[in-house]
Amino acid sequence: MSLSLSCYRCGERYDDGTRVRCDCGEPLWVDTEPTAFSWGDCRDRGGMWRYEALLPVDRPEGVARAAGGTPLVRSPGLDDAAGARVFVKDEGENPTGAYKDRGSAVAVPHTVATGDDVVGTVSYGNMAISTAAHAASLDRECVVFVPERTSSVRLELIAQYEPTIVQVAGDYGKLYGDALDLSEHLPIDVLVSDAPTRISGYKTALFEIYESLSPAAPDVIALPVSSGGFASGVWLGIRDLERAGLIAEPPRLCLVQTATADPLTRAFEAGETDPTPLSPDETGDTIAHSIGNPDPPSGARALAAVRDTNGAVVSVTDDEIRTAQRRFAVDAGFCVEPASATTLAGVSRLADRGDIAADESVVLVPTGTGFKEMGTGEAEVTTETVRRDALRDQLESLLAP
Ligand SMILES: *Cc1c(COP(=O)(O)O)cnc(C)c1O
Ligand SMILES: [Zn+2]
Repeated sequence: MSLSLSCYRCGERYDDGTRVRCDCGEPLWVDTEPTAFSWGDCRDRGGMWRYEALLPVDRPEGVARAAGGTPLVRSPGLDDAAGARVFVKDEGENPTGAYKDRGSAVAVPHTVATGDDVVGTVSYGNMAISTAAHAASLDRECVVFVPERTSSVRLELIAQYEPTIVQVAGDYGKLYGDALDLSEHLPIDVLVSDAPTRISGYKTALFEIYESLSPAAPDVIALPVSSGGFASGVWLGIRDLERAGLIAEPPRLCLVQTATADPLTRAFEAGETDPTPLSPDETGDTIAHSIGNPDPPSGARALAAVRDTNGAVVSVTDDEIRTAQRRFAVDAGFCVEPASATTLAGVSRLADRGDIAADESVVLVPTGTGFKEMGTGEAEVTTETVRRDALRDQLESLLAP
């Protein structure tokens, strides 16, 4: 299936559905013709497929139909912590618990349509889980490349869909380039984090936010950022809606990184267009393991999105992430993974320094559910044990005014 791809930076176009990067080195995305689009189109389709007219594949069969269509919830309990009027776009409600399903729902069926026998991906996290699920749903073989030391909990989450799991020894960070090479020479399509068809799927999150809030519009959209793929998709969505005449003023895109690996924050603060890859001694461990990419392949594009929308990039510490994760649960009832909790911590920082005003509307996008991380026995839980015959007295004192 031929796609029209283009480069955001130099404008070069390609009619080759398997290309990922431009000759200038930047990642490509898929062009669609949004000028005739209006919200009433495809209304009868479920999930993200109500925007089928703006996607490069026809609505597929299988679990892809369950992707997207996540709720946008006004969450006043988080206003104080954020310093703004908070809406939560809960991407944890996708079929495998992360926004990655929007990308897999387009990219995996596209691979099947182009005739590659096997789908692959480079990830030991949500990308692996999502790709394996979508391949299973279309009865395709899937190969997942994970680092040599991957925890059994993570392997179990991926393995339930029965892909071939390959543990790779050596520099895992370099596998992005290897993946493009393998895809070119073997009958496998390794769908990397910023594969153009994935980016197309991601833009539907932005469409849903606008359609839910219409006729109002968000002032700020806050996302965690790692490879820059999701941020690129959201930016592409903004550009589509601008061309369709459905957005007057773009929302400010605010991207949040973990302070332990934040090449984009560093580049943003230095006013640079291209991030500088971080060396191993410039990075550290973090509880936000879904983010923290020392050399993000769509990093320059994510920075361009931020500049184009007058947004910002900030970093937050693990302590701030822990606090934010608790606030999501205790003040709003959402179970989010640490990477997703960064959105609240980041917005709080931006509000503190006056970049976001208290009366502005902010959409936090928790990209992944926290439920996958439960059950590891690491949480500290305090309870009380009471004999049955003492229960009534105990409760009476507990409920006493
Ligand atoms: C993949 C992922 C991210 C980062 O997205 P990028 O597209 O790599 O920038 C953020 N949060 C969660 C939960 C993820 O799984
Ligand atoms: Zn280019």
